[in-house]
Amino acid sequence: DAYLDAIDGANGALNAYVAVTHDKARDMAKASDARLASGQGGALEGIPLGVKDLFATQGVHTQACSHVLDGFKPAYESTVTANLWTDGAVMLGKLNMDEFAMGSSNETSYYGPVKNPWRAKGSQADYVPGGSSGGSAAAVAAFLCAGATATDTGGSIRQPAAFTGTVGLKPTYGRCSRWGIISYASSLDQAGPIARDVRDAAILLKSMASVDEKDTTSVDHPVPDYEAALGQSLKGLKVGIPREYRVEGMPQEVESLWQQGIAWLKDAGAEIIDVSLPHTKYALPTYYIISPAEASSNLARYDGVRYGLRVPGKDIAEMYENTRAAGFGDEVKRRVLMGTFVLSAGYYDAYYVRAQKVRTLIKKDFDEAFAAGVDVLLTPSTPSAAFGLGGHDQDENPIKMYLNDIFTVTVNMAGLPGISVPAGLDAKGLPLGLQLIGRPFEEETLLRTAHVVE
Ligand code: GLN
Repeated sequence: DAYLDAIDGANGALNAYVAVTHDKARDMAKASDARLASGQGGALEGIPLGVKDLFATQGVHTQACSHVLDGFKPAYESTVTANLWTDGAVMLGKLNMDEFAMGSSNETSYYGPVKNPWRAKGSQADYVPGGSSGGSAAAVAAFLCAGATATDTGGSIRQPAAFTGTVGLKPTYGRCSRWGIISYASSLDQAGPIARDVRDAAILLKSMASVDEKDTTSVDHPVPDYEAALGQSLKGLKVGIPREYRVEGMPQEVESLWQQGIAWLKDAGAEIIDVSLPHTKYALPTYYIISPAEASSNLARYDGVRYGLRVPGKDIAEMYENTRAAGFGDEVKRRVLMGTFVLSAGYYDAYYVRAQKVRTLIKKDFDEAFAAGVDVLLTPSTPSAAFGLGGHDQDENPIKMYLNDIFTVTVNMAGLPGISVPAGLDAKGLPLGLQLIGRPFEEETLLRTAHVVE
């Protein structure tokens, strides 16, 4: 009730939730009380969580914050959310996000932007919470849930976590099942938690992770007790500092925070090593070829026949066109056009095939660093703190927005786990995050190291 009251009080201002499931939350909480009273309780008994609108939740609003899925209420539950409910968690509602998870500011949502609960010192101006999991990050930061589910295709867990002073963990590709999560770019999409601290992220990941016969890319790898890894010594841990992440134009305060992070890890007994990831500069253009290509294919299913919105036309072809024209926002249309172009007959080899080759080189950079003994890499999460809401011209310059993903997309391209931890404030008093990147399925090392930084 306290969380539902907090949501009812603050959501009008923040717009973090697009659906609040009052009755369901109270029913789930009562069932949880009953289990606890009979001494049964799971790991998350009674913990109130928010769910990104990308996760299918049975009988509950699920639209990826798009108009094209108007009125869609799935008949099934995503594996990740089902795992959370099995462990006793309580669903508070569905969280705002960029439409189909395409964006870095939560401004492409059909339901309007989310406001970052943080403000600059002495200012009334509104800031973006980051994206695409902007609702998840804002809700956690504003205490409108104890934790939230999110997804990360090219930074959508870590960048909003950095912008809101929360912890965002993107697990290894295959760690969590993608079944029941609305697809954006299937070879990059991965679910993970946004939480108030590293311990909560560890606890949530344990429940979310599983191998699943309904997602053949989920991996049968033991799910350890992530929480138990916290507090273990960093003695002997090798932390790589990738020199290519020192990009031109990076503000001094981000550079200083990075140095501070290095000092903290050194003090904790870690060894700091300079490493090179030479293909880093190609990650962003490669990501913005591969992800729209996969998206254009995944989004072909929204044809006005199977789900949500249908806008009639004189024949079926016109009905498709009318539905997609009315149902998708500008950023989604831009990505579908880009994706269709790079997959088209004359350009497939020049763009898509080439991008896949570069992706392999990016992954090889990481493989080599890990083979040389590096356990984790430390980088800033983003090149800057949160930017002002509506303060940029997205339609005229989408590239500027894409540049925000410069430190996060490499991790998805290589399928690695990454975490953003709140590490300080910029001169205006807005949160800044540091990112740790780990070896595949070594989320424990990541969490143990992140616990020292937070
Ligand atoms: N900002 C990136 C994009 O717009 C990341 C999105 C994501 O991780 N879902 O594609």
